[in-house]
Amino acid sequence: MKFSISFFPTQKEVPVDATIPSHILMLRAGLIRPLAAGVYSHLPIGQRIMQKVMQIIRDEMNAIGGQEVFLPALNPVELWQETGRVDDFGDIMFHIKNRPMVLAPTHEEVICSIAKNFLRSYRDMPQIWYQIQTKFRNEPRPRSGVLRGRQFLMKDSYSMDSSWEGLDESYDKHAEAYKKIFSRCGLKFFIVGASSGAMGGSGSQEFMVESESGEDTCAVCPKCGYAANVEVAASNVPPLPRTDGDPQLEEIHTPNVRTIDELVEFLNVPAEKLAKSLVYMQDNKTPILVLMVGNDLLNETKLASALGQNIRPMHPDEIVQFTGAHSGSLGPIGLKDFKIVADNRLKDANGLVSGANKDDYHVGNIDFVRDVKLDGYYDLREVKENEPCIHCGEKLRVVNAIEIGHIFKLGTKYAEGLKAYFLNEKGEEKPIIMGSYGIGVERIIASHIEQNHDENGIIWEKSIAPFHIHIIGLNMKNENVREASENIYQILLDNEYEVVFDDRDGVTAGFKFKDADLLGMPMQIIIGEKNLRDGNVEIKIRRTGERSVVAIDDLINKLEKLLH
Ligand code: ATP
Ligand code: MG
Repeated sequence: MKFSISFFPTQKEVPVDATIPSHILMLRAGLIRPLAAGVYSHLPIGQRIMQKVMQIIRDEMNAIGGQEVFLPALNPVELWQETGRVDDFGDIMFHIKNRPMVLAPTHEEVICSIAKNFLRSYRDMPQIWYQIQTKFRNEPRPRSGVLRGRQFLMKDSYSMDSSWEGLDESYDKHAEAYKKIFSRCGLKFFIVGASSGAMGGSGSQEFMVESESGEDTCAVCPKCGYAANVEVAASNVPPLPRTDGDPQLEEIHTPNVRTIDELVEFLNVPAEKLAKSLVYMQDNKTPILVLMVGNDLLNETKLASALGQNIRPMHPDEIVQFTGAHSGSLGPIGLKDFKIVADNRLKDANGLVSGANKDDYHVGNIDFVRDVKLDGYYDLREVKENEPCIHCGEKLRVVNAIEIGHIFKLGTKYAEGLKAYFLNEKGEEKPIIMGSYGIGVERIIASHIEQNHDENGIIWEKSIAPFHIHIIGLNMKNENVREASENIYQILLDNEYEVVFDDRDGVTAGFKFKDADLLGMPMQIIIGEKNLRDGNVEIKIRRTGERSVVAIDDLINKLEKLLH
């Protein structure tokens, strides 16, 4: 492709709304253009990269027996009502105004509606169906460029099995395919155990790319390889020990003391002696008190996994209404009509201080066995950096990460919801056992850029680079340069290289170099008058910046070595 007839709108300025490297560079390199918040056009270079990623995905999905389908994005709303997911998705789902239809955020329902009519016997399974298709989600904060779009491309696949062992096999096949896909796309990734969340189901793993720009947080053990999303991660932090003696509850006047730190200072006790209170509402009607060890953080996803969905923090006026006090003075003693849960670390602990449900007062000597009627202990705390690994004791790292893929043992939830039954070997009617597996196509690209860039621009791996070679004709007004550049361009095309040729005249050499580094093709060939006099051109490897002068006669030979 020649620059002179192409649409490669690069820009020098950093776009105002973009803060993370992939977003900035995708805009600056002219891969995408925003149309609305979270909605992007893919321009020619961007689209080439998308195609490459999709081809890798197709190769590997086909290799595990996946069959490509293409399902409608426009779905009747009744289909989603049957599984109750109109409510589950809530505001995330786009609804069509002049028809009872929705834009699909995922496709379990459509798949199930097909499967139920055709997979009637155990002999019809296993099946793996996949598609690469546009998904619509009304994400509340679409701020990281294509990493979180309201319209995005997903490879989603679905396995249908007649046995749980079959599901395990389909799931494992996907895990293997995903490893190949992400490796071929040049990503350094890790796999974490994940929360099954609103999807229901029995097992789930996420494929993660470590990145400052990631919206997920994971605990990773550098020694034994344990890795988990903090939504499920655990560490080996000991529970609080019981202390001797049986002192009575005591009210403590704590004027203007609200936070854990203030309380630690005011009472001169360690934070491990404080039971922190957090209050939530479930289904807008059940008040919940959550007790945590002083400085521990509550992970709300863990809370939802423990107690069910539809939990939100209590509003300040509700807090006063239900407890009689303001936040900062809340606790388990004397609280009525609350469901009370505590983190596992507080199991049967005593000698604790917590709020008195009376402003400016706390209660001391609380014994969880003697004084508190608990509805249960759960793992609710979020793992912190440097805590000991649950498996090997090594200090855990807590890192930001981008979720690029998700594999999920769905089980029978959707089949039951949509009545997708088959007859097993014994002639009994059973629900189809499903798995669902997603990959964000744009997220692969943005993650690749997050991991592969420098201050000058993108650095593509050859496998998904829009072009392999970027030819720069330095001064195209010079006859020799023009002729030699055109020749080399043609020779490379004949040898089936993917080449982009900066043949613009009226653009300075400096400008061309900057564009080449910004666009990030693995290899640059710089053709200038001086080298040509000796029958040479210059080669620059984008990743290392390494330059060498090569005889034109030896060019193909040299490229072959460098690119493979
Ligand atoms: P997240 O927690 O980041 O919102 P998710 O759990 O909602 O992701 P899934 O429903 O499992 O994601 O979707 C499968 C894959 O689709 C994800 O692993 C991710 O790569 C991609 N994806 C999900 N939401 C978006 C989005 N808004 N923009 C771009 N890609 C997305
Ligand atoms: Mg999401």
